[in-house]
Amino acid sequence: MFETKYFDGLKERTYNEALLQIAGGSKAVGVYCAFTPQELIAAAKALPVTLCAGSEEPVGAAEQHLPKNLCPLVKSSYGYALTSTCPYFDLVDFLFADATCDGKKKMFELLNNIKPVNVLHLPQTYQTEESTLIWLKELYKMKSILEQETGNKITAAILNEQIKLFNDYRTAVKELFELNKGDNAVLFGKEICDIIDADGGIFYNLERRSKEIRESANTARERRQDMSFQEKVNNRSRILLTGCPLTNPKVINLIEQGSGMVVAMENCGGLKTVGTLVEINHDPMRALAEYYVKTACPCMTPNPRRFDIIGRIIEEYNIDGVVELTWHACHTYNVEAHSVKKYVREKFNKPYFQIETDYSEGDTEQIRIRIDAFLEILKQEGDRLKI
Ligand code: SF4
Ligand code: SF4
Repeated sequence: MFETKYFDGLKERTYNEALLQIAGGSKAVGVYCAFTPQELIAAAKALPVTLCAGSEEPVGAAEQHLPKNLCPLVKSSYGYALTSTCPYFDLVDFLFADATCDGKKKMFELLNNIKPVNVLHLPQTYQTEESTLIWLKELYKMKSILEQETGNKITAAILNEQIKLFNDYRTAVKELFELNKGDNAVLFGKEICDIIDADGGIFYNLERRSKEIRESANTARERRQDMSFQEKVNNRSRILLTGCPLTNPKVINLIEQGSGMVVAMENCGGLKTVGTLVEINHDPMRALAEYYVKTACPCMTPNPRRFDIIGRIIEEYNIDGVVELTWHACHTYNVEAHSVKKYVREKFNKPYFQIETDYSEGDTEQIRIRIDAFLEILKQEGDRLKI
């Protein structure tokens, strides 16, 4: 697997630096979703901390308050807060939470009993001017809370500086993915996740973070000349992983322990959230609203942007098959899966496979068998095309 000095102690370093900032008077602000502009938090000289949790460990505790048949992401995030066992949740002073799916928005009501949660009310669609205006109003609400809590004024100039830094970070992550375009992949999906998640979700010193991601990309690029690596990956099926956020590595690990290689991910944190940039202009609040309201999340109806992104990835990354990950009880992704399957099969003539699971290990071997069978179909299809 990918080894570079980039990973050495990076989580600890970022966490310790955050502690120093907090000791110096900075606020730490928690976020859960891709709709929240972290640029605004950073412009108020506060630390944005992403909190979506991926562990099974706190789920039992969460189930004392939440129904068992709820998405594991919601239960795990709430369980950590309830049991005070997440060092990142412990850092934050208050939170911004987007009213996306039903599970999340109702959980936020309970979470507010533990730490102050400011809910941002999303429109149901991103296709109208009215939607942008609704989100802009919410972002002004967020700006005023941040200014009040931190005592720091967010000017257009300061905000544009942060927009540039976050745009550069998105570009660095996109460049990392793009190493896998075409035929000769250089990074396993799990390695891409490791590089992106190496700071533990605290968006601090973004300039350095983007530089380090680019250094990792340079190291990975050298694999193009490494014949033994190329031999190792060339017979693998090139997979696009789409669906719910990749908060838990169970499914990506199973694909790559088999004969697949996840060369691209459309999920939140992947190409869905780094594919485009926020415009830099004289009205950065409006630019942020226009950009973030268009997040291709199935809580929006309809959600055509997700299909455009998936289609582009299939073509540009030379995808052999699409795997859709659905966390249990995630109704928005689960319902949209039918249309994604139809789109992938009918428009691109590519095999599609959906996995519904949670964070527990109980079904791991069963899922492994199903994934291996899917990968075998892809292999046979690949062999047939070679003839
Ligand atoms: S998929 Fe939607 S609800 Fe889930 S993290 Fe992304 S933006 Fe939030
Ligand atoms: S995975 Fe689905 S149910 Fe879970 S938080 Fe995200 S959108 Fe909601």
